[in-house]
Amino acid sequence: MTSAKKLFDSLVGQITVYPPRETRALVFMMLEHFMRIRNVDVLVDRPIPESQLQPDWNKIVERLNQNEPVQHIIGSAFFCGLDFKVSPSVLIPRPETEELVRLIASDFADVERSINMVDIGTGSGCIAIVLSRFLPHADVYAWDVSDDALSVAQENARQLLSEVIFEKQDILNQATTNTKFDCIVSNPPYVTFAEASEMRPNVLRFEPHLALFVEDEDPLLFYKAIADFSVKQLAPGGACYVEINEHFGAETVQVFSERGFSQIQLVHDINGKNRFIKAQM
Ligand code: GLN
Repeated sequence: MTSAKKLFDSLVGQITVYPPRETRALVFMMLEHFMRIRNVDVLVDRPIPESQLQPDWNKIVERLNQNEPVQHIIGSAFFCGLDFKVSPSVLIPRPETEELVRLIASDFADVERSINMVDIGTGSGCIAIVLSRFLPHADVYAWDVSDDALSVAQENARQLLSEVIFEKQDILNQATTNTKFDCIVSNPPYVTFAEASEMRPNVLRFEPHLALFVEDEDPLLFYKAIADFSVKQLAPGGACYVEINEHFGAETVQVFSERGFSQIQLVHDINGKNRFIKAQM
């Protein structure tokens, strides 16, 4: 007879590619996902009946040790308390992005009229879907250039009973709309290729480069396009919110100020890094 603690310790001992804390966290995620075993079961060392089905742990450990993200192995990731399907075609939702969504949700929570929002480069759909669930008075649009990403996002919206309007649009190539938006949000690609050498292999080898990287020659390319778009499409009093590269805080602020935005806030993430900009005309 095995037990939750024995299984936990055995898996932790076999995973060699992450630091100890992270290893423990991802083993907890897998035990919960594959066997409904929770942290407390490990703490009290609950017995695991012989009859309980187990996944092929050797195979899973091998995939992890090849740096495949745990979210790809279990097929999903938590974001703002909701379970999102992920695939290699979409960025795995990051905790920083939760902060962005909470900032927007709190800014718009007390608005009494109906509002329009658009998420540019929606990926898994996590930003758009959470906003539409938090803000029932919002019509939320979500755009992406990738068909594969849009189909993951649509599946997530269906699973999470959220009515987001998905459209295939390329912000770098004449995105067209007649809608005026009270909120324009984006977490665009912002990692330069120069930074790739500092990235971990689970990100670099398994997450979509289309969602991560921007050319070193023009690292603010997406922010320029989003700011230009916002100048035309923000409704009076509306705001644009973007997640940014921590190394380009001042430069990204400048992209907005050059285009006539007068109220621009550079917001830190929980790690104290320049991570978001909120800009209004
Ligand atoms: N923050 C992500 C990372 O570090 C990148 C997100 C993005 O490019 N928008 O991998």
